[in-house]
Amino acid sequence: MRARLVAGNWKMNLGVSESAALARALRENLGGTPGVVVCPPFTALAAVGAELRGTNIALGAQNMYWEERGAFTGEVAPGMLTDLGCRYVILGHSERRQFFGETDAGVRQKTMTAARHGLTPVVCVGELLVHREAGRTEDVIREQVAGGLSGLAVETVEGLVVAYEPVWAIGTGRTATDADAQEVCRFIRGLLADRYGTGAADRVPILYGGSVKAANAAAIMGQADIDGVLVGGASLSASEFAAIAHAVP
Ligand code: PEP
Repeated sequence: MRARLVAGNWKMNLGVSESAALARALRENLGGTPGVVVCPPFTALAAVGAELRGTNIALGAQNMYWEERGAFTGEVAPGMLTDLGCRYVILGHSERRQFFGETDAGVRQKTMTAARHGLTPVVCVGELLVHREAGRTEDVIREQVAGGLSGLAVETVEGLVVAYEPVWAIGTGRTATDADAQEVCRFIRGLLADRYGTGAADRVPILYGGSVKAANAAAIMGQADIDGVLVGGASLSASEFAAIAHAVP
């Protein structure tokens, strides 16, 4: 059986004390719930990690660089994340691709390095609205999966999480229909099976992300190939995020 996961991406929204307060509230609501991850801004990782120590809630980062150390001003190395207790790292989020020039090749390098450091990569893929309207969703997803994961060892692939996030659904209030989300997640699992075998593909949790909230989480997570959700806006409310995590079937 695949792991179920509810991950919150706090993006660039909370300072250190705000992050610690949210972590405290989550500890009350979700401290004993398995399969919950929060990804605060880098600056709040230490404070949130301290609040969550001893709970089931795992710490994740929103990005990292693929080098171990060196003259890379402004970047954060994988070992710096594990030092702070991170177990997960989001890679290739559409906002990184859109605003910071992240490429599939970069995602691939980051994925390999993260896995080598014992971090679980949450690799994000998703089409733009123009792609969907042109009927090109599968082409785009195929390209992102091939480019982001090509040449990875089967053991690396078995240890990752893929998040399908249609870009037009992120922060817009528009969600894919349950059936559309399921269809793309099944397609992704098929791509993984073609490249790495069905055994590996069956082990990879695939999340859906894009305007998930308590009201739609259960239906989305009830789909056969959707093993959890990656939540942006709604993860900033402890009660809303807790309700989403409690909706895991
Ligand atoms: C995200 O950015 O990963 C995301 C899914 O955001 P939102 O839930 O706000 O759409």
